[in-house]
Amino acid sequence: MISALLPNYARLDLAFERGEGSWLWTTDGRRFLDFGSGIATASVGHANPHLVQAIAEQAAKVMHTSNLYRIPQAERLAQRLVDATFADSVFFCNSGAEANEGMIKMMRRAMSDAGKPERFRIICFEGAFHGRTLATLAATGNHHYLEGFGPEVEGFDHVPFNNMNAVRDAIGPGTCGIIVEPVQGEGGVRPADPEFLRGLRAACDEYGIILGMDEVQTGMGRTGKLFAHEWAGITPDVMSSAKGIGGGFPLGAVFAKEKYAVALKPGTHGTTYGGNPLACAAGNAVLDIILAPGFLDSVVAKGKTLRAELDRIARDFPTVFSEARGQGLLQGLKCLVPPAQVQAACAEQGLMAITAGDNVLRLAPPLVITEAEIDQAMAMLTKAAASVAASAKSAS
Ligand code: PLP
Repeated sequence: MISALLPNYARLDLAFERGEGSWLWTTDGRRFLDFGSGIATASVGHANPHLVQAIAEQAAKVMHTSNLYRIPQAERLAQRLVDATFADSVFFCNSGAEANEGMIKMMRRAMSDAGKPERFRIICFEGAFHGRTLATLAATGNHHYLEGFGPEVEGFDHVPFNNMNAVRDAIGPGTCGIIVEPVQGEGGVRPADPEFLRGLRAACDEYGIILGMDEVQTGMGRTGKLFAHEWAGITPDVMSSAKGIGGGFPLGAVFAKEKYAVALKPGTHGTTYGGNPLACAAGNAVLDIILAPGFLDSVVAKGKTLRAELDRIARDFPTVFSEARGQGLLQGLKCLVPPAQVQAACAEQGLMAITAGDNVLRLAPPLVITEAEIDQAMAMLTKAAASVAASAKSAS
């Protein structure tokens, strides 16, 4: 008989009852160092006192009023995000997929308002992940996820990642814009070359099309800049964010330059929950932490420590890993064995890691991780890799 909780996930047999910083405790009392952060989401750590207090205080006042009325917490959060980014305006929603849906609608509508409704096609990349709604699945373009769900939403063209010639070849009279992840997260922690991102910006300017950045996984400090595209010295026209922006509280956002933001006039788009007082209280508290002086510099420094250790581990276990790759605190180890096997070996050592496409073990600790905790995690990962290497050797 089917379980009461719909079994659409292959869950590990672990349940957590409490967390503190970068640590999680299971219901049976075991302690784990969390290098997954609930899929790159618990950005300021578990039970962060500042975030907990902001949520508790707001919940005790008013959680939800709807977008029929002004929401001061959302106005404040939007202003702070506008001040810190390329954007002139921000729309709030509840998840990454919903942010991407909003971004796609904004891009198409802006082109239509500019008198070019025939330009609705969006160029996306092989290995991308943009979400599980029907349009974001079509943008993702992975046939494994699309199968059986009826006709694919029309208008998404896929080309190889990091290949500027392929992008230029794909731009046609029906092209509205491009959506790219600065680091493909689910696709296997594959960074875009900064030169490629600059090439996308130049091509969008040349052809008068819109550059959309999916920063759902890479944004809000994950790579050591507030948003990862900043490393390439460019700005997108529109951008999606979610995951770390609420620190674990569901919150998503579409950022846009005014020229594109105006496309979503009253009545064109909306959501009941999006940007409610509770979600925006959480977003403001997360932003207090991430924008505090020195915080992003510390992410850069910790990312370098983590990466140096992963490079060493990849060198020390050449039968288990072929390379380390990633940016800041979003790192991956490409595995020569099934990554789930390394993940299980890590869990035995008390380390939570996650997997990604392209045979990758993904490491995305809370941004508040300490250098000492990185050392602890790397000691656990080294032991896990040794046990995987030993079992691979005895099997051969
Ligand atoms: N975009 C990117 C780059 C993601 O990594 C994800 C989730 O992993 C999504 C979109 C979808 O976000 P959500 O699961 O919140 O809908």
